Amino acid sequence: MANVKERQQFQIELAKYLAEKDFIYGPEPELYSPVAGFYSYGLIGKAMKNKVEDAIRKVFTNNGFFEMEFPIVTPEIVWKASGHLDSFNDPVVICSKCKGSFRADKLIEEQTGIEADSFSDEKLAATIKDKNVNCPSCKGRFNLEIQRHPLMMKTTIGTDTIAYNRPETATTTYLPFKRYANFFRGKLPFTVFQIGKAFRNEISPRQHLLRQREFTQAEAQIFLSKEQKKNFDLFESAKNDELPLWTEESQKKDKKPEMTSLADALKKKYLKNQAYAWSMNLAYNIFLSIGIPKERIRFRQHHTDEKAFYADDAWDLEIELNSFGWTECCGVHDRATYDLTQHAKFSKQDLSIRQESGEKIVPDVIEIAFGIDRPFFALLDLAFFRRDDAKRTVLSLPTNIAPIEVGLLPLVKKDDLPAKAIEIKKLLDTQFRVYFDVSGSIGKRYSRLDAIGVPYCITVDHQTLEDETVTLRERDTLKQIRVQVSKLNAKLSEFLVNGFKE
Ligand SMILES: [Zn+2]
Repeated sequence: MANVKERQQFQIELAKYLAEKDFIYGPEPELYSPVAGFYSYGLIGKAMKNKVEDAIRKVFTNNGFFEMEFPIVTPEIVWKASGHLDSFNDPVVICSKCKGSFRADKLIEEQTGIEADSFSDEKLAATIKDKNVNCPSCKGRFNLEIQRHPLMMKTTIGTDTIAYNRPETATTTYLPFKRYANFFRGKLPFTVFQIGKAFRNEISPRQHLLRQREFTQAEAQIFLSKEQKKNFDLFESAKNDELPLWTEESQKKDKKPEMTSLADALKKKYLKNQAYAWSMNLAYNIFLSIGIPKERIRFRQHHTDEKAFYADDAWDLEIELNSFGWTECCGVHDRATYDLTQHAKFSKQDLSIRQESGEKIVPDVIEIAFGIDRPFFALLDLAFFRRDDAKRTVLSLPTNIAPIEVGLLPLVKKDDLPAKAIEIKKLLDTQFRVYFDVSGSIGKRYSRLDAIGVPYCITVDHQTLEDETVTLRERDTLKQIRVQVSKLNAKLSEFLVNGFKE
């Protein structure tokens, strides 16, 4: 969607739809005074979020990663060591007229289209002045003194111990490093991940689920030696896989991303090492596995001046949304030895391990960092965009992340059909999330299920009582077949994985 107005209209319609169809409620608490940046996953949305998480979990575990879960509330020293306490903040400007405070870089982006998240305070102030950026609430001028707003949410443990709700899962995943060394018997690489809540006290969060104060992250770490980065065992089998790379150079020349094999990307020095290239490919496969279409994904290389000071290489996976355009959904970062070195220093413990050669090293870390909320939102954004068939509203969600797999509908509420349907439900319950619905016309019940993306509906009718067959209807094509009740589970499993066949 090129037009800004169209895009804004779409954002409003999408948010309304997601609330009405029980995907996302909020901002919460809706019952009292809503607070920006907090949303509920509703009665349908939560089921879908679980599906997305499980699909991601499966890709990680299939690739040898082990999941852990660390506490959310963490003492101050952890964030002193990680650098967050000193540097995790947003630049804020205050309106001289209405005293409203706003995030300086976002304001510039919104009003001028200039990407400003890597700008220094001086540059931010100068841009606001030169480009006449004004207050979105009252059109007033800004006080040009940039303030730094800390992003971590502070809390207290017991009566007086300062702590923080973690601003990311990643740092907390590093902390049990010595335990991992034991589990993996000291043999690098160690591959671990964590899915869990993180918090950012953003000054004025907007953009629905994309910018929340409480959100869910999924972050994976590969601890490895410098030698393994160059020669990564798993690279060989993936070297011909292609990624849509949008290099810094292509960005400057206004060229499109190019599908590039991992091997070529290394040869051309777009990517620095095998392990990093493999990690990007894994991230790409995660997004494909949950059903984001290829043509909506690209990898954007960070500009030299936006990379974190410790980052050796940094690319973001971006998804093109209808509501908000190209949106960062995952970062792959080569963090070298930064984190373990910091935590060794602050904990005064030895976080090195001994290699087979006898040499002691602090491992490097490659991190695949993303959230659950953004890909979740992307899936709904893309499905909602295509929702209107000529006669009906249908959410064509990928079958593997559809919140409910099967609708089960007795044709009428009499003649023993509901009782027969309940009998069939018991069979289906062993494998699927079934939505049982007896009330209203069959047409209304179908459209209700289409609107939340249920891929298959089963109708129990009078013929079922005679010959033990039911009607199975596919959501997108509306095609119907009759299936033996005894073969229903097998057929559905197959269709959910491989698609519908008549
Ligand atoms: Zn103002």
